[in-house]
Amino acid sequence: MSISLRKENEEMIRTLVRSGRRPHTVIIEGDSKEERDGAALMLAASAVCTSPDKPCLSCNPCRKVLEGQHPDLIIPEPSKRLKSGIISLSELRDEYLSQVSIKPNEADTKIYLFYDADRLLREDSQNTLLKIIEEPPQDILFIFTVEKAKALLSTVRSRAHILTLSRTEAVDEESDTIAEQIADGIVKLYEYDLLMTLSSLTKKEQIEAVLAAFTEKLRLALNFQSGVMTDDPCAKKIARKLNREKLIAVIEVTLSTIAKLKTNVNLQLLMTWLCTQYRRITWQK
Ligand SMILES: [Zn+2]
Repeated sequence: MSISLRKENEEMIRTLVRSGRRPHTVIIEGDSKEERDGAALMLAASAVCTSPDKPCLSCNPCRKVLEGQHPDLIIPEPSKRLKSGIISLSELRDEYLSQVSIKPNEADTKIYLFYDADRLLREDSQNTLLKIIEEPPQDILFIFTVEKAKALLSTVRSRAHILTLSRTEAVDEESDTIAEQIADGIVKLYEYDLLMTLSSLTKKEQIEAVLAAFTEKLRLALNFQSGVMTDDPCAKKIARKLNREKLIAVIEVTLSTIAKLKTNVNLQLLMTWLCTQYRRITWQK
């Protein structure tokens, strides 16, 4: 199993790990289950990883975490006899928490990972956990994943470090494709194509989405020029074609166009104006 995590979320986990101040209780909140679970596994792996740059996700302990096979990674599961993903307090205590003060097997840390903790843990379970979290054994890490941290008891929250993952906006492939066409028009100096692409946008919401997607590519391009890698071939193309000064000017004119959308502007004229601006900035010597 591998983790596919958005870059900014991965960076959030790595930054916490690198700080060397990893808390013993972490709540990971976010609207995407995939991102929450991925971030949780990444954090868990960092606690057992044997490489200097943690988590490497390829050493033996990391791989065991990703496969759910690490003996020091404990993932309490919902009770089979209860409905709706809840674990009973007695099962939580007897099957899982009874091992809390036993030393880890292989790693330096024992990890309890509670997926969808707000559904899994009723108030009685949270209160029982709270007593442990208040005075945790040294070598322990509790991870809770939730859609919203507020769904957990405030007493639990106040003892935990809360990581809020970035929101996943619905990936709008059409906007992304059009943003690439705009980039192409700019990079290849096809003014006619650029004008056609921009003129084909007739709805305010659509223009906003496309220009936001384009701005994201421009930002990636800017970062790429400063040495931050990107997987986006379009951003790389822009970065190679435009120097920093032009790139910043393109970002500024794009953002000011997005701002103009909020006013009562003629969209067709705005798109024509934007095309002229792009040409002026990028094609000047
Ligand atoms: Zn590792």
